[in-house]
Amino acid sequence: MDKSYKLLTPGPLTTTDSVKQQMLFDHCTWDSDYMQITEGIRARLLELGHCDQAEYTVVLMQGSGTFGVESVLTSVVGMDDKVLLCTNGAYGDRQVQMCDHAGVNYVRYNVEYDQVPDPQRIEQILDADPSITHVSMVHSETTSGLLNDIQPVGELTAERGITFIVDAMSSFGGMEIPVQQWHIDFLVSSANKCIQGVPGFSFIIARREPLEASNGQARSLSLDLWDQWHTLEQAGGKWRYTSPTHVVLAFAQALEELAAEGGIPARAARYAQNNHRLITRMCALGFRTYLEDHQGPFITTFFYPDGVQVDFADMYEFIKERGYAIYPGKLTNEETFRVANMGEIYTPDIDQVTDLFAQYLDARGLLGKIGFDSLEDARHAMEQASA
Ligand SMILES: *Cc1c(COP(=O)(O)O)cnc(C)c1O
Repeated sequence: MDKSYKLLTPGPLTTTDSVKQQMLFDHCTWDSDYMQITEGIRARLLELGHCDQAEYTVVLMQGSGTFGVESVLTSVVGMDDKVLLCTNGAYGDRQVQMCDHAGVNYVRYNVEYDQVPDPQRIEQILDADPSITHVSMVHSETTSGLLNDIQPVGELTAERGITFIVDAMSSFGGMEIPVQQWHIDFLVSSANKCIQGVPGFSFIIARREPLEASNGQARSLSLDLWDQWHTLEQAGGKWRYTSPTHVVLAFAQALEELAAEGGIPARAARYAQNNHRLITRMCALGFRTYLEDHQGPFITTFFYPDGVQVDFADMYEFIKERGYAIYPGKLTNEETFRVANMGEIYTPDIDQVTDLFAQYLDARGLLGKIGFDSLEDARHAMEQASA
């Protein structure tokens, strides 16, 4: 194999060899072995979301996470319905695009990328417009790394009988989300995020009642959420249309490994520790986080140290050659980059990649401008900060 590196990107993530090895087998899709795997995945996801089986169910949908979100928005928001899209990043913006494309009726409540939607404002909007039937929101906005507070919004919507849709793509599996208790009607995530599988399908944890009510509403054939669910249920785990068999096998293994790690609480603790250590060491080096508040534990947007000019492509190559792939920024008006700390990433990786940032600044003669006498000096500052 050529040079390899670990991914410090928000999906795909670095996965274990044992997850990847599952993909060496070409499984058929119709026999009971395979259907049991599918059903096992659905049952496990329901448990991870702390959902009661009588009230909730799980739909698996081919495609990346975007397909799952689009499936929900274009299937459950009916022709006479209206969805309130609360947006503060590119993934919220994408929901607006989806609704525009499919002609889904929506209103938008947009806030700055470094701010969170205000539940009080949402309440006012809902009270002022009784034609709103659904509210949709991103949980972890991967654009910036911000974590939105979805729980109060779930309470507001539940009180009013409004359906609540959450894109928890980059958070589900990486922190506890009691889906039922938080009154989330449709939660969307995908195989290649915090469960640590590989890309190829998304999954939707859905409350049965609004899912069943969406029968016949879908604007798309292949993304018809109800029909996908109905087929899975009727056939006892057989997918409608070809399922991504290799990805499904890898995902089943990833779920086993999540359990072996100690479940979501253990994984959440590891990610939070990674994130804290990353930010501490980067800030000791002179980088600054874009977010002042609401920083989530999955991905961080950084500003370069004051007074230094850095070419992202050059820095990216330097770090990639030494074992880690970082991520460009996604803010239109600011010079930033991102580092994710999800996936098979542990403390030594965080120490290693932060050391590579120091090495890079040293190699380009920039450490002096930040106030360090030497690479040793910079390393010492990082060690002191994270001790
Ligand atoms: C990854 C992600 C998605 C899905 O993106 P894909 O490129 O389709 O996988 C959607 N929303 C959020 C918040 C994400 O992080």
